[in-house]
Amino acid sequence: KAKSLGKNQYCVYKEEMGFHEVRKLELEKDLQRALEDQQFFIEYQPKWNVKTNSLWGFEALLRWKHPRMGIVSPNEFIPIAEETGFIIPLTRWTLEEACRQCKVWNTAGIAQSVSVNLSTRLFQTDHLIDWVQDALEKVGLEPCLLELEITESMVIYDIQDIVRQLQCLREMGIKVSMDDFGTGYSSIGLLDRLPIDTLKLDRLFTYDLDSPSKRAIIHAIVLMAEQLHLDVIAEGVEHEEHIAFLTQLGCFVMQGYYYGKPMKQDIIMTWVNQKQSAASSSDSNI
Ligand code: C2E
Ligand code: MG
Ligand code: MG
Ligand code: MG
Repeated sequence: KAKSLGKNQYCVYKEEMGFHEVRKLELEKDLQRALEDQQFFIEYQPKWNVKTNSLWGFEALLRWKHPRMGIVSPNEFIPIAEETGFIIPLTRWTLEEACRQCKVWNTAGIAQSVSVNLSTRLFQTDHLIDWVQDALEKVGLEPCLLELEITESMVIYDIQDIVRQLQCLREMGIKVSMDDFGTGYSSIGLLDRLPIDTLKLDRLFTYDLDSPSKRAIIHAIVLMAEQLHLDVIAEGVEHEEHIAFLTQLGCFVMQGYYYGKPMKQDIIMTWVNQKQSAASSSDSNI
């Protein structure tokens, strides 16, 4: 039976490959003009502190509105942009745009940070620090309101060089967080060497809180983070049970669909006002 299916499956597989390859090539070509054509925009996802029942900050998540293909996921275009080097102008744009938006919130009384995701490529340029400084100065944002998210996987190459650059950024007052913590290699060893402020627990942990071993791991990570004076943020918080489990384990800052999906900038202010008045009315009920 497998044999008779074999040939067909092979064809399907080949067509699939063709489709993906064609799409990738097309995206690669179209990326070059997308920035000047203003096809990118940013959505901001809130991080919420359940202990104080207040906003912790936002993460800037890049979106590409392709003229023919519609919204393309960053999971698809970021790897292409990394391969081609286009990630560099793209990240510089994102940094400046996110800082500008954060400044707007700040002026309106929302003194919370914005975080921007960084790819390894940025650390290999020798200009990262200047670019970050430029973005902050251009919009007049205080450095302590900017956070940069890095991942464990990017540190496997030249750790000393990355450490040096991160130190420099932190001396400027910028915060650094380790994104998707727990999914890469040598996570724990890195914590000892990297100058960071925050651990973002990958959402794989949040998904699987029924598993006693996952809970034990989260608990251990939270205790370790406390000793290292790191904040912990749980990603992918979608349900009320997640919150109950996570707070039991000592994790109080959450990011996920339960609190808010990534949102366009124009609805953020309304969202914040609603959340804050809901929070203060639930506080006064206690
Ligand atoms: P990330 O940095 O780990 O961002 C979190 C991702 O999880 C986002 O996906 C967000 O929409 C999604 N998410 C948030 N809450 C929930 C939830 O409750 N449930 C589920 N299932 N998902 C949730 P998104 O926006 O598709 O971004 C995917 C990845 O693309 C990001 O993962 C980040 O690694 C990368 N990315 C996005 N923007 C940029 C950027 O400007 N530069 C770089 N280098 N990478 C970026
Ligand atoms: Mg991130
Ligand atoms: Mg993440
Ligand atoms: Mg993630």
